[in-house]
Amino acid sequence: MATSGNSSFGVLRNLLGSRRDDHGAGEAAKSPEEQLLELAQDYERSGLGWFWSSNAEGRLTYVSECVAQVLGVAPGALVGQPIQSLFILDRDDDDPVERTLPLILSARKTFSELPVKAASEDAELWWSIAGRPQYDAQGNFRGYHGNGIDVTATRQSHKDASRLAQYDSLTGLANRHRMGKRLNAVLTAYRSAKRSCAIFMLDLDRFKQVNDTLGHPAGDELLKQVAQRLKRVLADKNFEIGRLGGDEFQVILPDIDDRGRLGELAMTVITMISQPYQIEGSRCVIGASIGIAIAPYDGINSEDLVRSADLALYASKGGGRGQFRFYSSDLHSEAERRRQIEEDLRDALGSGQMRVAYQPIVDAKTEKVVSLEAFSRWEHPELGDILPSIFIPIAEEANLIGPLGDWVLKQACSDAAEWPGGVKIAVNVSAAQFANPGFASSVAQALAHSSLPPERLEIELTESVMMGDRSTAEEIFTALKMLGVSLALDDFGTGYSSLSYLQHAPFDKIKIDKAFIRGVTDPANRNSAIIASIVGLADSLGMLTTAEGIEAHDELDAMRRLGVKQIQGFIYAAALSHDEVAEAMASGEWRIEANGPSKYRPDRRTVLRKVGLIHEDHRYEVMMRNLSRSGCMVEGLIDVPLDTQFVVDFGEGQLAVAVARRSAGSMQGLEFEIPLVDDGAGGLCTRHRVSPYTLAQAGMPLQALPPGQYPMQLMQQPGGGLSIPKFGQADLIKTKPVRVG
Ligand code: C2E
Ligand code: MG
Ligand code: MG
Repeated sequence: MATSGNSSFGVLRNLLGSRRDDHGAGEAAKSPEEQLLELAQDYERSGLGWFWSSNAEGRLTYVSECVAQVLGVAPGALVGQPIQSLFILDRDDDDPVERTLPLILSARKTFSELPVKAASEDAELWWSIAGRPQYDAQGNFRGYHGNGIDVTATRQSHKDASRLAQYDSLTGLANRHRMGKRLNAVLTAYRSAKRSCAIFMLDLDRFKQVNDTLGHPAGDELLKQVAQRLKRVLADKNFEIGRLGGDEFQVILPDIDDRGRLGELAMTVITMISQPYQIEGSRCVIGASIGIAIAPYDGINSEDLVRSADLALYASKGGGRGQFRFYSSDLHSEAERRRQIEEDLRDALGSGQMRVAYQPIVDAKTEKVVSLEAFSRWEHPELGDILPSIFIPIAEEANLIGPLGDWVLKQACSDAAEWPGGVKIAVNVSAAQFANPGFASSVAQALAHSSLPPERLEIELTESVMMGDRSTAEEIFTALKMLGVSLALDDFGTGYSSLSYLQHAPFDKIKIDKAFIRGVTDPANRNSAIIASIVGLADSLGMLTTAEGIEAHDELDAMRRLGVKQIQGFIYAAALSHDEVAEAMASGEWRIEANGPSKYRPDRRTVLRKVGLIHEDHRYEVMMRNLSRSGCMVEGLIDVPLDTQFVVDFGEGQLAVAVARRSAGSMQGLEFEIPLVDDGAGGLCTRHRVSPYTLAQAGMPLQALPPGQYPMQLMQQPGGGLSIPKFGQADLIKTKPVRVG
């Protein structure tokens, strides 16, 4: 290393910027130059900082000894090397020194506080370096003088702080702040490139219950496991997953606008999250709801897009949970409706708007009615009938399930006590109601009040009652068994069924959910093998089996073949009023004959909706009579030749190319070129929509898709009017356009 007094003295003097006369009154024995050198050497030895100089070619002429030590090379070995050899310049996207340092050096600029990584193989060390170009008297560039200091510690703490500021410390996912920034950046960049970007807003179902029953540490552990599952399912490196707080997650999915693919992805996420968790030795089960919004269709900027996804999430929660939902503009009125339902539910019981309806359950062999299941029904004075799948979750959340459940229990028991014979009555009880300490005694009261023999009462529970504290659940089971009532496990086969429950909980019956039964007649479907094994297990444990939701003969035949003991479903009867039941029973034994379609038709839905039909440059209004994934039946045009091509306009930018495959009078059967997909709410929607970018090109302002029907704007010929319509139009009943399915 070049340590020759003179040359390094010159360098140091320059670097330290000291002036001779500052030190005029110093120690008499040493010259100011000597003192300066000593100070500088002290400084170098302390390891706090170091000096360097280079020649006009950018090669080192001096560098402090500590640098050679750090880099693990012999003292002096660095002289003659290019200055860049001291650093690793090829990494860390936060610090593009790789490009800036050579640029600065070749431009002969002064620089300071430039962060660089030491070219050390042993440790990650960071320096902050400075340099000043040197010129001789003639103005020729002579090289650089510079210095460096170690900034490893401060850099690390900055990095930690910025990590903390951007990531959630519990799950390691991006936090709300980072997700907001990312979404903003993506949407801004994508707008000019006319690209699309979807987001998921995800909220866990029943997370609060886990937190309340198992404690916060268990809740934290659960969130960590949820985060891991999300990372596994959404492994695409372009997706960014974040936790916004509590049990709320967000996913950014760039470049996807296919609602078929998004729906499938959302369903996979929901299924994965709904699998059981092992937390501190306890098994627990939660669910998830997802709201989906896609830019630019449902929002151009991040604020609007997030608001749309939030609204979709709110709707999916309200729609019964465990679902996904796409944003659509009619969700605004749906959200309003839900708020009203919440408000009105408090008065519904007191004002006699609630009723109980009873659905017969028949013996699979004899077709004798063996029991009836009680369902609550709410007739709202303005909104009409509201389904229990809507108001039961709301009642649970609003702490109204206790009084509502009690009322149903009392009503059902006293109605059943009036029926002749020994038919059983089954009452649904939700987990929140079951966990209430007074539950067993309210069952006892309902029995005493009605004088119904306990063996005629059956309590239907879902697996979620076994979540959380097992011993509490077991105590209630014992209390109910002591009363003499029987217990049925409801909704078996919906997501997280565990056969192990059956061995521990004293159930008398398993009810196989309709979701599990659909598809059972399809030879490729494995459900029938699974049902056979459930029936086998139930038989050997002395439990009964009921198949729910049987609508068609092929399903009924399959259930009989598989040995299911009891059947419930529209093929026998829908839920009936107390009076209807009493009347049917009055004549003695009640037998029902199966009456339904021969095959279950999964996706033909009867609808009555106005849609647009576009042919050439004309738009007709027609009535849609039924709809399936592959096509629809419309009424309104007269004498349409077969194979005529149309574009069906469902509104809100949903267009489907279709061909007339059948045509008779004013009715046409249309086949879609691209099949429709699930909209998450039991309906159908188109995979793609008209892009707001396209509408903007046609002269509309760039905005999220507005409600209504607007493809005519796209077809208007500049200056020219429309051609003469090809088809005559039949009279139509007036209804307002609504969602596709
Ligand atoms: P669940 O206990 O599994 O009841 C079966 C549901 O399927 C009922 O819907 C019933 O009307 C319907 N269903 C019956 N047969 C068929 C069929 O062949 N095809 C189809 N597609 N559906 C059929 P509902 O009455 O809307 O009740 C929905 C859920 O709400 C019930 O599911 C139950 O979990 C809950 N629920 C209803 N009433 C009460 C209540 O009073 N208390 C509590 N806690 N929950 C209730
Ligand atoms: Mg039930
Ligand atoms: Mg059920």
